[in-house]
Amino acid sequence: MSDLLSSLNDVADALTNPSQHRTPRHTWSKDRRDRNKKRLPDHVVVLPGLLTQLHDLAYPLGVDGEEGAGARSVPQSREPGNPRALGAYLDIHIAVTRWTTTLELAWRDPVESAVRRLVGASPASPHNVQRDLLSDMAGWLARCEEITGWSTPDPILTVPCPDELCGYRTLRVDVEERTVRCGACGARWAEQETETVGSLERLGRYVVKYRTAAATAAEIVRADDRRRKAALYARPESS
Ligand SMILES: [Zn+2]
Repeated sequence: MSDLLSSLNDVADALTNPSQHRTPRHTWSKDRRDRNKKRLPDHVVVLPGLLTQLHDLAYPLGVDGEEGAGARSVPQSREPGNPRALGAYLDIHIAVTRWTTTLELAWRDPVESAVRRLVGASPASPHNVQRDLLSDMAGWLARCEEITGWSTPDPILTVPCPDELCGYRTLRVDVEERTVRCGACGARWAEQETETVGSLERLGRYVVKYRTAAATAAEIVRADDRRRKAALYARPESS
């Protein structure tokens, strides 16, 4: 499978698959002479996929009664919860709809199935379409992660490629080899810098700088928004 296709699958997994988190637990023997730790069954938590988590933040009341369990389209009549989650959820919903139309596929509820269908159809698409889809999907993942406060342990780095001519969100981490590769332009980073391979350390500095700048930009927008609202509601009575 090409780099792009396996990245697409990884991002789709993070967006749509429930994930299991295992925490090992131990206890100490009651017998004081026995200093061995005793293993207890792991504490296992299963979290729904990130899109479902985002949906549940946007619509905290749970499953839409009239649509039955599992079906999640965009409800019209329910009181929304977290407005940022709602905005992100609707944006992603719209983007998935647009991609479904572009790739001439039939829509399938819920939105997770539609995402799966996009990825399922992508091997037949040209390279540049796969690249654009991956870049968009990594953007959805970044928003989900930001709003749900959850990060996946980095199969994909959700920042744009630092190569000025590239800029796609297609950086893929190989945890075992400790390398990063851009699926769009082929740029590579490793611990040992060479003529053709960049240094991980410098890439790390770029990622931190990018994320700080993005967080600052978001804070400026939010502060602006607060000022605008404050001005709107605090307008002195004109009499
Ligand atoms: Zn690149």
